Amino acid sequence: MSEHYEVVIIGGGAAGLNAALVLGRSKRNVLVLDENKARNNVTKASHGFLTRDGVKPEEFKEMGIGEIKAYPSVSYIESKVTSLHKDSGLFHIHGDGQNYTADRVIVATGMKDELPDIKGVDLVYGTSVFHCPYCDGWERREEPLAVFGNDPGILDYVKLIYNWSQDLMIFTNGPAEITSEEKEDLKQHGVALIEETVRELVSEDGYLKHVVTESDEVYDRSGGFILETSESQSFPLHEYFDIEFTDMGGYYTKDGCETLVDGLYVIGDSRHGFSGLLKAASEGYELAVALNHELAVNAWDRKG
Ligand SMILES: Cc1cc2nc3c(=O)[nH]c(=O)nc-3n(C[C@H](O)[C@H](O)[C@H](O)COP(=O)(O)OP(=O)(O)OC[C@H]3O[C@@H](n4cnc5c(N)ncnc54)[C@H](O)[C@@H]3O)c2cc1C
Repeated sequence: MSEHYEVVIIGGGAAGLNAALVLGRSKRNVLVLDENKARNNVTKASHGFLTRDGVKPEEFKEMGIGEIKAYPSVSYIESKVTSLHKDSGLFHIHGDGQNYTADRVIVATGMKDELPDIKGVDLVYGTSVFHCPYCDGWERREEPLAVFGNDPGILDYVKLIYNWSQDLMIFTNGPAEITSEEKEDLKQHGVALIEETVRELVSEDGYLKHVVTESDEVYDRSGGFILETSESQSFPLHEYFDIEFTDMGGYYTKDGCETLVDGLYVIGDSRHGFSGLLKAASEGYELAVALNHELAVNAWDRKG
């Protein structure tokens, strides 16, 4: 036996919960299935979301779940979805031993990060070393920072971080993949380039103290940024449907967030690679408004 819903939302981060909120307020019968492992759980505070600047990710989530539960047609179940397929116009969803069916499915499962292979990086990521300077640059302003990365995008990334602190050292963890002109440019701006292999990051309670290289050189740094976190999709939608990836690693959709599969939508990080909380939430809002509008018009026409 399967429980049936008008919309099943897979993933309950900012994107999925905001979609559920607006659909619930539109009296839609909605289920959110959420593994509850958002990628920003490693941080102590989220920034840049008006009225929630500095909020703990868990607190943001708790408030979101509390708000959607106020609407009787919305259910939230903590569960990992392990299969999804479409048969005779109906989606079949399976998670934690339960089966569900839905007319439409919204995938809002986000991305997961894989940190570079540097000893100690997991201890500092989310506390003093981050990926997104808009999320965490302010807290690290004017500090001696390390920038980790070695792909052609590194120079642009450094130019951005330079806005928050000009005391920068780039650690490429091997020969730098930039031109000699770019090296000169860094020198002109007083940015040190360390090409030696990094042996270890030394930290205390998540706060970076030193970067130690193979030759035992010790560089004092109190925080930093990582260019490449090798992000990948948390939920393998492409294994269930023939869906392409965008250049940013997101699932391809048409305008309006619908994939090439009728009734299957993707929002938030899963669509963009990295959307930030506000864009994820707003995309959930916009999609819910569009879906409800369509359902309302269909219901009107059926009665005509
Ligand atoms: C270290 C770090 C710090 C950040 N700081 C900020 C910040 O300060 N400000 C900001 O705006 N953004 C920040 N971000 C980015 C922000 O976290 C994301 O852009 C945002 O969370 C995307 O929302 P989402 O709803 O798309 O995905 P998520 O918030 O990742 O939510 C996806 C949900 O889907 C669930 N899920 C995944 N797979 C399944 C499955 N198979 N079944 C059921 N559920 C599943 C996950 O467990 C999770 O609960 C940060 C990111 C990182 C990594």
